[in-house]
Amino acid sequence: MRGLLSKLILTILVLLLAIGLLGRFYAAKPEPENTEEPVAAVTPEPEQSEEPQESPQPQESSTTEEIPAETPETNPEPAVPETPAESPQPQESAPVESIQPEPVYTEDPVFTDVNSLLIVANKTHRLPEGYAPADLINVNDVGGWGTIAPYMRAEAAYAVAEMTQAAAADGVTLMFSSAYRSESYQKQLYDGYVAQYGVERADRISSRPGYSDHQTGLALDFIEGKGADFTSDFEYSASGIWLRDNAHYYGFIMRYPKGKADITGYSYEPWHFRYVGVDTATAIYNVDVFCSFEEYFGVSGGTEYK
Ligand SMILES: [Zn+2]
Repeated sequence: MRGLLSKLILTILVLLLAIGLLGRFYAAKPEPENTEEPVAAVTPEPEQSEEPQESPQPQESSTTEEIPAETPETNPEPAVPETPAESPQPQESAPVESIQPEPVYTEDPVFTDVNSLLIVANKTHRLPEGYAPADLINVNDVGGWGTIAPYMRAEAAYAVAEMTQAAAADGVTLMFSSAYRSESYQKQLYDGYVAQYGVERADRISSRPGYSDHQTGLALDFIEGKGADFTSDFEYSASGIWLRDNAHYYGFIMRYPKGKADITGYSYEPWHFRYVGVDTATAIYNVDVFCSFEEYFGVSGGTEYK
């Protein structure tokens, strides 16, 4: 009985051992299954990762195809507007800064060159201190008729002589009082007007020394000696009418036209003419018989001294 019982126990133990081993085996088997599952789950991941990779690849290829097409378009668009937008901004701000001084400093040098026939003398353009033209000649020596100060720059003097002969041919006698006036002489005149009329009126009818058109040696005042001299009525005189209609043919302009005192700085002076050359004088006359030099050239003027 003992032997049989011990055999039975041994058999049970062996069975238990076998069951335990089997249990371990089955318990271990799902583990690899689990690992397989994650592996299987991992594989779809790479598939998904491949798909997105593949899809991005075609997308990239499509986008890269589009991008090169877009980038040239979109890049230029933002790049072009950016650079113009950026460069214009500094350019705009720079021009604005440079434009402001331009009206003051970038005026054509011809208007401040004393050797130019377009030299400007007005209340915003002062001639160089003590300036006197180097080529002054006596107009009476070449065929003009000046009574007080008959000196002018040579080219203007000859033009006056030619104009005087042409007027005489039309039955008009051209005569003038003063042409060139030195700065010191102008000072005497101006100071006399100030003493007589005060500064305000003196500035309307006369120039301060250094600002006079007469100091250029290119201007002169015509007279007739019949009572209309140095008044607006001179425009109705034979000389006034002839000069208004013909002076430009000889290179002269009416320097202080009617209705332009705010621009030229001086009242209407139908007797004061200024030599600028035939081409310029004709061009100004053709704009309007009362077109001013300042208007024609856009040169600053006005009634206030600067
Ligand atoms: Zn004058």
